[in-house]
Amino acid sequence: MFENLSERLSGVFDRLTKQGALSEDDVKTALREVRVALLEADVSLPVARDFVKAVQDKATGQAVTKSVTPGQQVVKIVHDELVHVLAGDNPAPGELKVDNPPAPILMVGLQGSGKTTTTAKIAKRLQEKDHKKVLMASLDTNRPAAMEQLQILGQQIGVDTLPIQPGQTAQQIAKRAKQQATLGGYDVYMLDTAGRLHIDEELIRQAAEVRDIATPRETLLVVDGLTGQDAVNVAEAFDRDIGVSGVVLTRMDGDGRGGAALSMRAVTGKPIKFVGLGEKMDALEEFHPERIAGRILG
Ligand code: GDP
Repeated sequence: MFENLSERLSGVFDRLTKQGALSEDDVKTALREVRVALLEADVSLPVARDFVKAVQDKATGQAVTKSVTPGQQVVKIVHDELVHVLAGDNPAPGELKVDNPPAPILMVGLQGSGKTTTTAKIAKRLQEKDHKKVLMASLDTNRPAAMEQLQILGQQIGVDTLPIQPGQTAQQIAKRAKQQATLGGYDVYMLDTAGRLHIDEELIRQAAEVRDIATPRETLLVVDGLTGQDAVNVAEAFDRDIGVSGVVLTRMDGDGRGGAALSMRAVTGKPIKFVGLGEKMDALEEFHPERIAGRILG
């Protein structure tokens, strides 16, 4: 396993002479270690560089407090800055705009990212925690199995799904979901759009058409948190072409160190709303910047 950042830094500072304040050289040496730790946590290089620069400005000249070692002090500065970047101006990550019923939520993302699972997890949460009546609809006309998967998950968690009508286009299904949500007195309807292995024109066109029909209150992008820089590229493309209001990072129960979260925030500026922590229907958590910061630091 990786040596964690505190251990690394205490090593660095042990070799340096003790001074009253963190000198520029001390900080520089320490920040080389910080940069390596960030890269090992899968933070992209430009983001790691900018981050280290920001920390350098904050740390240089800071008085060394008596109660902590210089290493611990730099770790604290790094931790606080990580939380600051990760949190952004998003004080309540798990909250979704679902007033004005029926409120549409558009779910987008690549195939295999965990989109259908996450749709059901969020529906369950809205129903149980926020007492919303939720309708889910699968728009994945290319993959009947994906439609059935959503239906099965709906039965499991006690959330209604729009009945499957073979032969309909995604747009027709979106219109039917809207109608059903209105007639059925639903608070929220969730549209699980088709995913593909890569972003292509057809995927984007379909998602954009559905967006124009539903005018969603939230457009949530589901990305695999283990894919690092790819996750950021996917988010940039979806945001440019569809417009994204929030991100859900899945597979954060895996071995990854969570660096994708930092890159995602720094590059796209989009709030991370939830993290997926497993396959089960309750393995969804609202995003806690401190937990991810702790994980990145190791
Ligand atoms: P979709 O193609 O994007 O709709 O992906 P699915 O929802 O079908 O998910 C693909 C696989 O990933 C399934 O086996 C899910 O159970 C699994 N999965 C989804 N989210 C998570 C997560 O947060 N953690 C883990 N470990 N597995 C997940």
